[in-house]
Amino acid sequence: MRILVTNDDGIHAPGIAALERIARRLSDDVWVVAPSDEQSGAGHSLTLTQPVRVREVSPRHFAVRFTPTDAVMIALGLILKDHAPDLILSGVNRGPNLGEDVTYSGTVSAAMEGTLAGVRSVALSQSTEERAVGEDAFVAAEQWGPRVLSGLLRADWPAGVLYNVNFPRPERGAIQGIKVTEQGFRDYGRVQLESRTDLRGFEYHWFGLGRETAEPGHETDLKAMREGYVSVTPLHLDMTHHASLGPLRAALAGV
Ligand code: MN
Repeated sequence: MRILVTNDDGIHAPGIAALERIARRLSDDVWVVAPSDEQSGAGHSLTLTQPVRVREVSPRHFAVRFTPTDAVMIALGLILKDHAPDLILSGVNRGPNLGEDVTYSGTVSAAMEGTLAGVRSVALSQSTEERAVGEDAFVAAEQWGPRVLSGLLRADWPAGVLYNVNFPRPERGAIQGIKVTEQGFRDYGRVQLESRTDLRGFEYHWFGLGRETAEPGHETDLKAMREGYVSVTPLHLDMTHHASLGPLRAALAGV
């Protein structure tokens, strides 16, 4: 089984080293193609206005400028074009991807890109402290990742579906097990923005992540993290809200 490993934290991030070790527990045929620099928050962005460059860092390890989607496209269209991967693993992200995080996440978007190309894809994220972390922060992912992935490889894998896996922080207590969950809703509320002035007197701005939590709700990814379970959410690339189709047709009929 050929596995492509990618991420959004960049090819030198500690989480991708952890994911490569997880992948090697499943196969010897592991390739790493990932952004050269951190791309957290890049979402499903595709670079169309600048040349995309690739650098071979070491055998089977390639750094791509710029985004996670660029990296997956370069992997599938160039580096592995004669022998496509059977599985794409994206992560392990530093920090969870829960609720509406999935719409910003480069980690999840790399798995979306793989899914669009018809390759079974999984996004993996590790809940961590809000700071730079080392490889020891990914111990829970390394312990539980191979088990979760072997289960997913046995599971039904419908077209257009990817799996979003989140690992809780192990220091909050023993991990309780694995829960299949729904995407929750964080309710970020107001934009968190900090404005500063640079040394030349010009104003600039940083976005923050308000880590609020609304009610985690019934079997959501947020609730699983809070209760110490590994969360596995099936996500679907068809974003149509089917319940709205009928009422919307009625509202627009005869306009
Ligand atoms: Mn990230």
